[in-house]
Amino acid sequence: MLFDSHTHLNLAAFDEDRDAVVKRTLSSDVYMLNVGTCYQTSCQALDMKNKYPKGLWASAGIHPNHAFSFKKDANEISNILDTIEAEDVDDKFKILASDKNISAIGECGLDDSYLKDFPEDLKEIYKKKEREVFRDQILLAKELNKPLILHVRDLYEEALDMLQTFWPEARGVFHFFTGTKEQAQMILSKGLYIGLSGVITYSQGYDEMIKSLPLDKILIETDAPYVAPVPYRGLRNEPIYVAQVALKIAELKNLDFEQVSKATVNNVYKLLSI
Ligand SMILES: [Zn+2]
Repeated sequence: MLFDSHTHLNLAAFDEDRDAVVKRTLSSDVYMLNVGTCYQTSCQALDMKNKYPKGLWASAGIHPNHAFSFKKDANEISNILDTIEAEDVDDKFKILASDKNISAIGECGLDDSYLKDFPEDLKEIYKKKEREVFRDQILLAKELNKPLILHVRDLYEEALDMLQTFWPEARGVFHFFTGTKEQAQMILSKGLYIGLSGVITYSQGYDEMIKSLPLDKILIETDAPYVAPVPYRGLRNEPIYVAQVALKIAELKNLDFEQVSKATVNNVYKLLSI
């Protein structure tokens, strides 16, 4: 069996055939963690957990690009105050996150790439807000003693500093990790996990980093519906394709597929305490 540690069957891309995809996934012996990206998709993940108690888990989180009102074209913005209708770690989010069927907090983290087209002054306001929302989720995870599902692009050092400040013993995974060998070592030295996605099946840039990772610290994921692995590139991604990620790791580390699948399943169980 396999465990897709980061998937989004809770998103609109699966509105037409969600139940069919869940059934196909579970009957293929693939378990999954549906990851929330905002209040509404976190509620959807919890609803799915309640509907399918076996083989499916849920997290609640506010993705960094939900910390501000995201508009790709900065020219559309006429009034700064109009744009800040962002999500917060408010009472309703905390109640949701406290539910016993929410196994983790996230995805949350730092990703300034969404801000690249914004004017400088607005960028600073949003960066600050993004960091407050991340800090609040770290503190909430600590209070609830639930692991963090971390979405961090490039800013690994800053994210680790924030974890060190607000929850030095943090448990969690850096999902969709695309950093260097050195950045991976920094993460591992804090006892955190590294999540590998389908990107490793078509980019050789991560091969050496992956070879350096201990098997007991790796999680595998699809991040469906995004970023389908080879040979499904360009199609809507789905949890069963996580097998391609396991195959690639087995190839790079010269291991059996079974060893990789078994270890990565155990790693998720351990991280989520399930
Ligand atoms: Zn995601």
